[in-house]
Amino acid sequence: MGTMSQQQFENFTASSLYCEKCKTAMPVRERLLLILPDRELYDYLCTGCGSSVGQREVTAGDKLMARAAAPPRRPRRSVAPRGLVP
Ligand SMILES: [Zn+2]
Repeated sequence: MGTMSQQQFENFTASSLYCEKCKTAMPVRERLLLILPDRELYDYLCTGCGSSVGQREVTAGDKLMARAAAPPRRPRRSVAPRGLVP
């Protein structure tokens, strides 16, 4: 009990992260590291020493969820009117 290190990973969207080299929380720079078909990887660099202090993964699902959650439309089947056959 008593390890607080895991809690640092909950604030990845924060503009400052703890840097091991600087021994303190430093403002970070977000850099696009890698683009994959279904996700993007971001790297967080310490603005003080330039070392990587964390990474974030944004999946395509997160992006789609951000958009309007419109239900998929079903193609309406066109029904030909009956009863007009001579
Ligand atoms: Zn640093």
